[in-house]
Amino acid sequence: MPPSARVVGLECLRCHTVVDDPRGFAGCARCRQEGVTVNLSVRLDLSPLAGLRPEALPSTPRGLWRYAAVLPVGAEHAVTLGEGATPLVHLERLGKRLGLPRLFAKDESRNPTWSYKDRLCTVAVSHAVATGARVITISSTGNHGASTAAYAARAGLPCVIFTLASVPETMKTLMQAYGAAVVACPTYESRWQLMREGIERLGWYPTSGFVVPPIGSNPYGIEGYKTIAWEIAEDLGWAAPDVVVVPSAYSDGLYGIWKGWAELQALGLVKDVPRMIAAEPFGPLANALERGLEAPERVAGGTSVAFSIASPDGTWQGLAALKRSGGAGVRITDEGLFEAQRALGREEGLFVEPSSATSLTAVMTLAARKALDPEQTIVVVLTSGGLKDPGASRTWLPPVPDAPADFDGVLRVLREQYGLRDL
Ligand SMILES: [Zn+2]
Repeated sequence: MPPSARVVGLECLRCHTVVDDPRGFAGCARCRQEGVTVNLSVRLDLSPLAGLRPEALPSTPRGLWRYAAVLPVGAEHAVTLGEGATPLVHLERLGKRLGLPRLFAKDESRNPTWSYKDRLCTVAVSHAVATGARVITISSTGNHGASTAAYAARAGLPCVIFTLASVPETMKTLMQAYGAAVVACPTYESRWQLMREGIERLGWYPTSGFVVPPIGSNPYGIEGYKTIAWEIAEDLGWAAPDVVVVPSAYSDGLYGIWKGWAELQALGLVKDVPRMIAAEPFGPLANALERGLEAPERVAGGTSVAFSIASPDGTWQGLAALKRSGGAGVRITDEGLFEAQRALGREEGLFVEPSSATSLTAVMTLAARKALDPEQTIVVVLTSGGLKDPGASRTWLPPVPDAPADFDGVLRVLREQYGLRDL
């Protein structure tokens, strides 16, 4: 077992104040007084890991907890369902079509609850147990809630979820199936206010954010996303890709993955770090970069099929990941999203949730603008599986035709309905 990094405290991403508070979930108090809401981030002292060689990483357990040396909770406290160790899939056919022969997908739908939120929740709920929490809570439109419910069940703790009435039935089913007490709120703001009361009055442990304007989620949980960078680096022979694209709303994943790359570079395990790209329906981070803003401002919203990430607000942590990596935000339309979802399913055999397909939509958008170098290694993070929201996919699929009784009739249907001629 390698030694572990030491947790120094929680550090503000803006003013760099470090606080020693295991329940620093509401962001930086000092920056809030200046009118800016900013998340805290776990500050690690990496010096115990100086000179770490990849061979020193334990081969078991497989997955996320292999990298416990850079996580803020010891593996002995791990509340785990075997998350992580997801495949890096070379998208050869699609990459060839887009003129990007080194296009890869990090398929996070293979996690225990079929989304990358499991990386956040395993670490956050482990931290909750290690710090004596009695109740887990979250506000979520689906994936994050389902994952929190599963890990709370695994830890044997009750879980209270504040969701929205408008989320798909599949998501409500999942959250309740894992035993969570789910209540539906009328607005985003109302659910955060109610959740906040549970945290402040009763000491409930949150896995998501609850601050307005939003800052992002539990800083300990965000550390779990760093392992995506570690796994990609390992699969590429301890090298970083040139570009990593992540579907983003409050940018827990975007920032966590970026932090992983920064630490890998600090440890000398990779030479370079990738540009981080945020795929976002309404573009608050793109807007902030284009206008040179210090903090993201609310942009015009609307409706989006990618409801999991459809936020007109961005966060400081997301903007920090883009600025520090020389990255960009790319706005996503429903039409572009469905094109990417179709391409992943039909050309590569990967069925992902609409919001998850946005990372490929961003690549398609940048490729059409000739903004990507064909020599570059590009990784799109596919955050969640398509069965989370099958109704959205049904809208672009044809009805299933009835099979005629005779085989020649079947061939005719295959030709006419599906365009299959050379069978
Ligand atoms: Zn601050």
